[in-house]
Formats: sequence, C-alpha cells, structure tokens
Amino acid sequence: MSTLEQGIKDDVSWLEPLSIESLLQDAKPDPGRVKEILAKARMFHGLTPEEVAVLIRVEEPALLDELFHTAKEVKEEIYGKRIVLFAPLYISNVCKNECLYCAFRASNMDLVRRTLSYDEIAAETRSMIRTGQKRIVMLLGEAYPAEGFDYFLNAIRTVYETKEGPGEIRRINVEIAPLSVEDFRRLKAAEIGTYITFQETYHRPTYEQVHMAGKKKDFEWRLGCMDRAMEAGIDDVGLGVLFGLADWRFELLAIMQHAKHLEDRFGCGPHTISVPRIEPALGSDLSMRPPHAVSDADFKKIIAIIRLAVPYTGMILSTRENAEIRRDCLQLGISQISAGSRTDPGGYESKDHTNAQFCLGDHRSLDEVVRDLAAMGFIPSFCTACYRMGRTGQDFMDLAKPGDIKEHCNPNAISTFMEYLLDYASPETQAAGSKLVEELLSGMDSSHREFTADLIRQVKEGRRNVCI
Ligand code: SF4
Repeated sequence: MSTLEQGIKDDVSWLEPLSIESLLQDAKPDPGRVKEILAKARMFHGLTPEEVAVLIRVEEPALLDELFHTAKEVKEEIYGKRIVLFAPLYISNVCKNECLYCAFRASNMDLVRRTLSYDEIAAETRSMIRTGQKRIVMLLGEAYPAEGFDYFLNAIRTVYETKEGPGEIRRINVEIAPLSVEDFRRLKAAEIGTYITFQETYHRPTYEQVHMAGKKKDFEWRLGCMDRAMEAGIDDVGLGVLFGLADWRFELLAIMQHAKHLEDRFGCGPHTISVPRIEPALGSDLSMRPPHAVSDADFKKIIAIIRLAVPYTGMILSTRENAEIRRDCLQLGISQISAGSRTDPGGYESKDHTNAQFCLGDHRSLDEVVRDLAAMGFIPSFCTACYRMGRTGQDFMDLAKPGDIKEHCNPNAISTFMEYLLDYASPETQAAGSKLVEELLSGMDSSHREFTADLIRQVKEGRRNVCI
C-alpha cells in the first residue's frame, strides 16, 4: 500500500469528547482538592484526566503559584538542569493539503515552492553542523517528489552520511504526515529517533473547519497514526496540538486521553509532547487571528500541568515563542528547545526567509541561546546516547526515574556541552560555559564528579561522542 493511501480504519474510540466536556464542566478547584492533587504530583506518579481538569480550573493566584512551584520541583527532580537542543531541517515546502493556518498550503500562490535535491540537503546539513547542531527534526509538506516516500528515506541517509569537520548529525527525529504500518516499518529501518506528528486539534468540528482539502482532512487517519507507528516498532512517538485552534482546555484533556491510550495499549506513553502556538504565516488570515488564541498566562499553565500529568514525557518548545517566554517555560517543564531554526527549505544556506512556514519569535543563533542557557544555570545538552544505546520506549521511561538521570543524563549532557564549547562556541559562550561546567562539577558528590571529569578529559583530548 502506498504512503498516501488509507489503510483499514484505526480504532480511535479512546478519544471521548463527551467525557472531556463533562470533566471540564464538573471540575471544581476546591483548594483542599488542588493541594491533594499537587501532593500526588510531587510523587511523580502522574495525574488522571479528572485531576488535570481540576488543575485547569485553578485561577486563584496563591493556588496558581503553588501549581507553578510544584511543576518547577518536578521538572528539576526528573530532568535536573539539562535542556536538550535541536533544530528543524525542512526539505520541501510543497504540500497538497489546505490547512488554513499554514503558509505551505497548496493554494498559497505567494509562496515559492522548493524541494531540496540530495546535494542541497547535504549542504543544509553541513551548514547546521557548522553551527554545532547534533540533533535535528526533519520535515516536509504532505507531498513527495517523483521517488515517493523513498525521497524522504534517502534524505535521512544523506543527512546521516554527511560529515563536516569534527561534527555530524547524530539523531534525526522526523515530523511527517501519517504513514501506513508498512511505511512506518521502513521509517524505523532508516534509524530515526522520535516520530512526531501533531494532531493540530483533537476537536473534530474545528479540525474539519480548518483542514479544507487533501489527505489531512481525514481526522481518524491522523488520530490513529501513533498506533500504526508503534505497531511498526517505533518506540518513541511525539504528540502535540497547535494551540489556538480550539479551546486549550479541551486539547489538554484530549492529549491526556491520547497519552493514556498509548500507555494502555503499548505499555509506554508518548516520548514527547510539543506545545506550539499559532504564529502568523504568509497568506493565512486564520494565523493572524487564531480563533482560540492562548494567552501567555494560560500557556504557562498548560506547560506546568503537562509536566505534572506526565512527568517522564519530554516537552518541546520551538522558536515560535520569543526568548522571554522560553526562559519562563524552561523553569516550568520544558525539556527540549529548538535554536537557530529556519523553517524554509534551504533556509540554513540562504539569507532570504520569505518562504518560511510561519514567523519565528526567537531569532537568536544557537550560540546566543547556548550562552543564555548557561547564564541561567541550565546545561545545554546535545546528547544522543539513549537513542544510540537503544534506551528507547519503556527503557527510556525507566531511566528517566528521579535519581537515574543523575547517573547518565547529566554527565552526558556535560560532555556533549563541552564538545560544543570546544568546537563551535564564541569566546563569550566559551567563558560562560566553562564557568558553568566548573560550578556543576564542584556541586557533585565525589564519585559523580570523578566520572564526569573523566568524560570531560576525554573530550578535551580530542575524543568525540563520549557518553555513558
Ligand atoms: S500544516 Fe502541514 S499539511 Fe498542512 S498545509 Fe502546512 S505543510 Fe501542508
């Protein structure tokens, strides 16, 4: 079956809009109940949809403060100070769909279309490597050139085979349109990291209004795609909605239903949840006036609640958001951010970005973001060890348990950060980063200090990709 053909309908009865509506209606943010829920969240056991609905209703400032404070505690305990960095690689902006919020939609004649050749993909990859990137998410619109899906698989191979100086891309996550089980198997064989697809909105009437034409109109095909990916053996999947299309309260509970469904069926929930908000896009009226725009205050609440509800699931924030919001959200639960991003095919080589998918809120270079993170005490991490060592799916979730992170992730984050500092950082970033590394080492107990210092020594001696 070809990629763009629809297979047998997936069972998507796990999405229960009526139960979401009634949870939202019945939830009461009684202070005693809220405190009980926050106490449970501090045990890192996650939250039920009913508990999430109660937190959604919290408005009282003191309780909100407690909610944020608890999210910070949980984030710090599970993820430490580590922030994983990545950047998107768009290889085509051709698309057959008509998503009203997107500049790439088929009818947008203002956009110049471009599908990168393999040589151009290699050139983009070299550009990204030269700035220090190690992890990418690869994307394209929902249309393939003449080779069909093989184009995407060859593009993955091209990126992995491309080297530049001391660097290479070590992990490719992908964000492409839903596939059949058979094509997901081929994607897995291409050694991808996480498969990511946003449902955009779980609210079916809204979904039907904003997806006017093309394959993406099929709500159920999209809703069932993570089941097909996991059936095909892809352990790590990433969920997300485009906040601003429908009521965020509904979306949040629907994501929880999706996560629970995956956990029940496959024994492992989503590896990541992304939290994009609609940003202005060329030729899209809807993107200029999102029907359910999410305020900054609500956005932070969404992030804090997700952190408590699914504590071991990574949370991704892109450069859609500006630097200030990103700084706040790092404290509340975000564990991965993109930096130095371009959202147009060829964007890393070119200076003209008029053909981007949407407007960016954070235009800083990777070097500036790294320096800012270090100044805040966060460890910028380029680590890909879990993926390379097969610690995916449930194995990763087990490792993410509090305490274990200190054994693996912090030393690995520091050693990959040291690689970045030596190979790519500006003198100012090197100074800020070296100071941070010294502080981190002096704050460790002697055994952790010893083996982390050993990893750093190996990197300084010229070894690369040294991880445990
Ligand atoms: S959101 Fe994706 S599928 Fe929709 S028009 Fe844009 S690129 Fe195409």
